[in-house]
Amino acid sequence: MTTLPRASLSPKARLEQLGATAKKGLGQNFLVGQGVVRAILKAADIGLADVVVEIGPGLGVLTRELASAAGKVIAVEMDRTLAGALEREMAGAGNLAVVCADARDVGIRALTGDSPYKLVANLPYYAASPILRRFLESDHPPVLAVVMVQREVARNMTAQPGRMSLMSVGVQVYGKPRIVGYVPPAAFYPQPKVTSAIVRIDVYPRPAVDAEDMAAFFAVVRAGFNAPRKQLRNALAGGLKIPPQEAEALLVEAGIDPRRRAESLDLQEWGVLYQTARANGVAAASEEDDDAGAGQSQN
Ligand code: SAM
Repeated sequence: MTTLPRASLSPKARLEQLGATAKKGLGQNFLVGQGVVRAILKAADIGLADVVVEIGPGLGVLTRELASAAGKVIAVEMDRTLAGALEREMAGAGNLAVVCADARDVGIRALTGDSPYKLVANLPYYAASPILRRFLESDHPPVLAVVMVQREVARNMTAQPGRMSLMSVGVQVYGKPRIVGYVPPAAFYPQPKVTSAIVRIDVYPRPAVDAEDMAAFFAVVRAGFNAPRKQLRNALAGGLKIPPQEAEALLVEAGIDPRRRAESLDLQEWGVLYQTARANGVAAASEEDDDAGAGQSQN
């Protein structure tokens, strides 16, 4: 276990010391106290055997506690000034590596090798979805993710059939999300306008749908959500660029009422619809597949 000094300065004072200001464009809202840090650590159930990837360590309030509790911490920070300051300040922590990179396209195996790892982050709001997606959809996903996001995004992630969105499907295909708690704007400096939520995602060893080609699976799901207010028959037709009669036939063959809306389908139904579309030669990854899955920007 590494014992590190607690941050003695407030985020505002520490930023001033560094000659920096909070960068809105990088979603910099720093945690002020230790209460939320403890809640995140508890939700992630961190122990000495754990390798942790932290995204956006910022001024290091969470990083310090992670480095004290975990076997190894790899902190990925895009802001050069903050990454450099953290590296200097925590030089004594032999189990911490600070990597200056954009977590939306960072090479995950280059960070962790083949080790299992937990993902922990107070995510920048503007990039929460693409960062999460980068990790969940990779060939080396975390075993567990505990992330702080906007409350509405957290509710989208955890929504059940009847209120599902592309994001609900994109997260729940890979793991079981649960909201651990809500965090008010006053917990941050500077204060955001919205309430945040801590979400724990227990990641499955394999995706919850039986799909040979996840990009093609998400092409079908995205087609369904292409016009979420429309009946699936019409939404699918528009999204897959097929005649409505053909979309209706696919849905009937999949055992799904064509008049239903995308938000009402559960994961299994999406899986059957994908298999049916595939068997009929209409499920193929499209050019938009870079936007598939958990990466639907809600920010
Ligand atoms: N973990 C710190 C805390 O809780 O006080 C800071 C959290 S702040 C909400 C988000 C952090 O992510 C900032 O430090 C910001 O510079 C960093 N960041 C923003 N975009 C990023 C990206 N694409 N990749 C990696 N880090 C990013």
